[in-house]
Amino acid sequence: MRRISVFGATGSIGESTFDLLMHMGGPAAFHTVALTGGRNATRLATMARALRAEVAVCADDTCLPALRDALAGSGIHAAAGAQAMQDAADRPVDWAMSAIVGAAGLQPGFQVLSQGATLALANKESLVTAGPLMLATAAAKGGRILPVDSEHSAIFQALTGEDISAVERIILTASGGALRDWPLDRLASAKVADALAHPNWSMGARITIDSASMFNKAMEVIETREFFDVAPDQIEVIIHPESLIHSMVGFHDGAIMAHLGAADMRHAIGYALNWPTRAPLPVARLDLANVGRLTFRAPDLARFPALRLAREVMEVRGMAGTVFNAAKEIALDKFISGQIGFMDMAGLVETTLARLSAETSLANAATSLDDVLAMDQLARLRASQST
Ligand code: NAD
Ligand code: MG
Repeated sequence: MRRISVFGATGSIGESTFDLLMHMGGPAAFHTVALTGGRNATRLATMARALRAEVAVCADDTCLPALRDALAGSGIHAAAGAQAMQDAADRPVDWAMSAIVGAAGLQPGFQVLSQGATLALANKESLVTAGPLMLATAAAKGGRILPVDSEHSAIFQALTGEDISAVERIILTASGGALRDWPLDRLASAKVADALAHPNWSMGARITIDSASMFNKAMEVIETREFFDVAPDQIEVIIHPESLIHSMVGFHDGAIMAHLGAADMRHAIGYALNWPTRAPLPVARLDLANVGRLTFRAPDLARFPALRLAREVMEVRGMAGTVFNAAKEIALDKFISGQIGFMDMAGLVETTLARLSAETSLANAATSLDDVLAMDQLARLRASQST
């Protein structure tokens, strides 16, 4: 029986993963090793009981009494805190879902790849902050990364049976987020609630705001560059408000392969769960006559400075992605807490990149996860100090 773990089980991707695991037979079909969550002990315990996990771990150690209570009599080990999270990721598995949000998702992903196991990667921060190191770890230890971000799953699927050298361009689709139709001069006054009203996808709060600012797409451009090893100028972004084409690959004979499906992350999660085969999934089928038409428009870089910053990050490479992600996380915290405005987030990231390139050798590649985590901390500090 396949041994699996889910890191970030209580989040949006984690819940969709749980739903699919249960749909595919739950404990009769999978041996669940570890489920982790942030601080929702009650939900984590319910999932752990349903899947009969070996261990359930909350990242926040104040949740331990509640988790123990909720798991009493189940035989499932309850644990909490940073060390327990690491121990959970060291337990042997065949497949693991990386669905923690933010840089906190890096460590367990590296641990799974170091085991030589398969990592279904939703945590895009991993490839943005430590892409080359992560791929090198996978290659050295025989581990494999399967993309779960819908765009990257789409590209991965469009590339099946193709030679990467035949690829001319990769076209990432973007919904444009909640504020795509706002006039440019109103964007500076956008509030958190405005940015959270995503037109098509239901996701965690942070990625939903990142969709409105296109920091999410900027991260995905960098993720594409790292995962598929294409040149930055081969990656294009197009706004596709219907969110039904999840991305496209253009080949040098002019053909374009597009991946379509309902806006439901269980497509990409299910693909990574069943790869290299396909299994029936409980997702809505597209009724194209009902959809009627698919539309596209070029992104306006004045509205979405994050896209320009992604290009600069790819040019420097090295640890620029680490700084970009860390500064973006701080900028997002500041926006959520009302300290800065919506359009100030990109400015804060740009300033932090400039400061760090002046005081460190940003272009030098990280040689260890410790290098990455140290740069991540420094960038957070500098971004916190900036206004
Ligand atoms: P979410 O906020 O809904 O869930 C995040 C999970 O991580 C929760 O289980 C939470 O408890 C846990 N967590 C949060 N902080 C933690 C910490 N410091 N230590 C340990 N655990 C922590 O997020 P999500 O929308 O499910 O996104 C998860 C990841 O997947 C992100 O990297 C996101 O960019 C990526 N992703 C999400 C979607 C989507 O549709 N939601 C699509 C593509 C990629
Ligand atoms: Mg995506």
